[in-house]
Amino acid sequence: MAQNITITIDGKEITTLEGLNLLQVANDNGIEIPSLCYHKKLSPTGACRLCAVKIEGIKGLVMSCTVTTENGMNITAFDEEIEENRKHTLEYLLSEHNEDDDSSFENELKPLVERYHLTNKKDRLIESIWDSIPRKIDNSSPVLTYDSSKCIKCFRCIKACEEIQGKNVISFADRGISQYITAGYGNWKESECDGCGECIQICPTGAIIEKPFRKEIDVNNIDKKTITTCPYCGVGCQIEVFTNDNKIVRVDGVEDVLPNYGSLCVKGRFGYQYAGHKKRLTHPLIKKNGKFERASWDEALDLIATKFNNIKNEFGNNSLAGYSSAKCSNEENYIFQKFIRLAFGNNNVDYCTRLCHASTVTAMLQQLGDGAGTNSIQDFETTDCLFVIGNNIIETHPITATYVKKGKKKGQKIIVVDPKWTPLVKYADIWLQPRLATDVALLNGLIHIIIQNNWVDKDFITKRVHNGIQSFEDLKKLTDKYTPEYTEKITGIPKNKLLDAAKIYATAPTAMIATGMGMSQQTVGTNNVFSLINMCLVAGQIGKDRCGINPPRGQNNVQGATDVGASPVNYPGYIPVGDDKNRKKIAKLWKVPYEKLDSKPGLTTIEIMDAAFDEKVKGLYIMGENPVITDPNQNHTIAALEKLDFLVVQDIFKTETSYYADVILPAASLFEKDGTVVNSDRRVLRLRQSISAPGNSKLDWKITIEIANRMGINLGEYSNVNEIWEEIRLAAPILNGITYKRIDNQGIQWPCYNSSDPGTSTLFLENFNTPDGMAKIIPVDYQTQNEIATDEFPIIMNSGRMLYHYHSATLSRKSDILNEFANKSYVIMNPNDAIKLGIKDDDEVLVISPRGNLKTQAKVRDEVLTGEAFMPWHFHESPVNALTRSEMDPKSKIAPFKYSAVRIKKV
Ligand code: SF4
Ligand code: SF4
Repeated sequence: MAQNITITIDGKEITTLEGLNLLQVANDNGIEIPSLCYHKKLSPTGACRLCAVKIEGIKGLVMSCTVTTENGMNITAFDEEIEENRKHTLEYLLSEHNEDDDSSFENELKPLVERYHLTNKKDRLIESIWDSIPRKIDNSSPVLTYDSSKCIKCFRCIKACEEIQGKNVISFADRGISQYITAGYGNWKESECDGCGECIQICPTGAIIEKPFRKEIDVNNIDKKTITTCPYCGVGCQIEVFTNDNKIVRVDGVEDVLPNYGSLCVKGRFGYQYAGHKKRLTHPLIKKNGKFERASWDEALDLIATKFNNIKNEFGNNSLAGYSSAKCSNEENYIFQKFIRLAFGNNNVDYCTRLCHASTVTAMLQQLGDGAGTNSIQDFETTDCLFVIGNNIIETHPITATYVKKGKKKGQKIIVVDPKWTPLVKYADIWLQPRLATDVALLNGLIHIIIQNNWVDKDFITKRVHNGIQSFEDLKKLTDKYTPEYTEKITGIPKNKLLDAAKIYATAPTAMIATGMGMSQQTVGTNNVFSLINMCLVAGQIGKDRCGINPPRGQNNVQGATDVGASPVNYPGYIPVGDDKNRKKIAKLWKVPYEKLDSKPGLTTIEIMDAAFDEKVKGLYIMGENPVITDPNQNHTIAALEKLDFLVVQDIFKTETSYYADVILPAASLFEKDGTVVNSDRRVLRLRQSISAPGNSKLDWKITIEIANRMGINLGEYSNVNEIWEEIRLAAPILNGITYKRIDNQGIQWPCYNSSDPGTSTLFLENFNTPDGMAKIIPVDYQTQNEIATDEFPIIMNSGRMLYHYHSATLSRKSDILNEFANKSYVIMNPNDAIKLGIKDDDEVLVISPRGNLKTQAKVRDEVLTGEAFMPWHFHESPVNALTRSEMDPKSKIAPFKYSAVRIKKV
């Protein structure tokens, strides 16, 4: 623990802590020592030499950014000599610097030039030589331009790329006065730079400058800056949106707040073009004679209300269903599920969570009593061991990955389990590459080794596991056969690697798991997670700080939508629809007779499509989802949509699904709305409107309420989203203590039961959320798949995401910048298979499964095992879900997106 100490700066006594950065302490106490190379997120450099001070007892000038505080230090920060020295240093710097400033960047040098009265070049003693130094300009990157004439060699960008983002892409080239920054082998575009823009945000002089929309930005003349949450992934990065004339012209990361402390990934920083895209929907559209025609809101809403009421009257309540959205706010999802339960009179509401982490949530709820991630994002840095399974975290959750990379530097052990190479393998101590869908065998094998080597936490099992040692004995009995040899036979992983991984995980002082779609999107998805949690419980790596299991969420409000009740089985706050007491409470809150609320669980997404296919569901209301691309077995989905009597799609663009709609309603994007979302570490974060919605488009919650009104159903009188949130607080006890005011600056993690509750950074520290407070071991055996490789379909296809695109890519592919990084589908094939099939890199290939086919381009890499292949699924022109099955995991109702037998041939 750092000691309280007192130091003196220019006669001012300051109480601080021992070992802090002196320059930072001075700045925090209002003593503004100038500096250009120092940044509080980076290790000190001492390169610009402007922060020189005198410290009693030390000879000469000392760079304050390189000094740590000690008790009794007496510092002179400003006197004539120091200031003269700083002025001189600044003059040297200026002599080699091109001072052109187009006002498109935050210039930290300019205020110093003014402060030291050097604005007028005639007042300078050192002659300017910058235009005689060889100038290097690299304009090749899609997102930035580097100009050496503006570079002061402060190291900030190099350190930001390495220390914050963990990428190490840039460095200095050349020496002395000609030194400049270079990426990779001298060409930014060809380097490993992934366009995160950390270096742009941190460069003090505009040497590395943002390329897109630069001409539209004058930092001194911005109409509005709004802090909101990134619309893409479940990290929930806080962004500052710069707007001019109702147009987004820049996005920066917000410094000093969780979860991202100013950092962003390429999508968050540059993926905003969709908001102002010319293809945005601006008017309701009604399909007449097979063609969409522009309609008024009255016409569209009246038609919808009439059709939904007619279907309900003719075919009963269960003939209607709705898809809610992980892309909409908590408030909108809450209103949507209230609509389904009151206007449709059933619980047929679900959304894409069913297709991502349904298995994880199903298993976690049964074994731990809660389906959300147990830890905080910071724990990804501080845990001693991270076990990452079926989760390409660097591409899917890039900012969470920055914490992991920092942890690695501090000695964290990383175990990666993935059938496909992912970028995290570069940082891993061990990479286990099992054959696809053999996870249960692998995890049972690891449990077997943990038991055999006595790495079991028996004390934890006795105190915190239901039926304690008896439960453990049952698991031991089942896993006895999973010897390393047997496990190796099924998974293909050498037994010494299994032993090493089990030892590292089980014996680490603290260990966390990050699980992903690779585990959940299988017909045995729930069993996979059961075995994962079994391993966690046997090793006692949960229920303590920096231990637990985390399923980082895909979209930015996957977590929140279920939290507020967009679920066929739960009301807001995870209270089952069959729970009579809660149903009465909800009925009272919604001011409806309790009998009006259906106590039977509703249909899940895939069940809704199946019921539509069977002509049992006749009317469907889809808010912000694109099932034609995201649901499995595309042909089946399309056939189901075609059989509907009436389909409403509410979205911000026409989508592959809206093509089958009877009415399309134009909605607002996340940049156009207020409200809240919940990120992957259960943090409730604010959304704030930064631009207005185009044309006649409307907020989703307002549209839903208007449909309800016209159906004769009153969902409530709300004049703003805060009033909806206040109702959510009453419905969901886990959110009760969270108000807009409390999260104005930084989000709070649920459960948060009252206004003095600070929220919960780690779940289950005292009890699990099960009825008896104990975790459950659920032993499961390995099962083979119903679909297997055959002579006709000899390759098993895996699918997943990539960094540059997002989900069905409706948003990300509207960005020229993201498209410049990646705009083409591909299939990764093992060289052994490629040779056998006569396929070379970049060849056009046809991929055929028993359900459909698609064309794409081959990438021949040993990133996948022989007999396996991988495709990203963002590209509608090569829709991976033309290949996948709609067979479900019986427990979670998820589809096996990760496992389809295919044949690949050269076109
Ligand atoms: S954009 Fe990101 S990855 Fe590229 S050089 Fe800058 S910090 Fe590094
Ligand atoms: S990591 Fe996720 S939330 Fe953060 S900027 Fe990227 S997409 Fe947005």
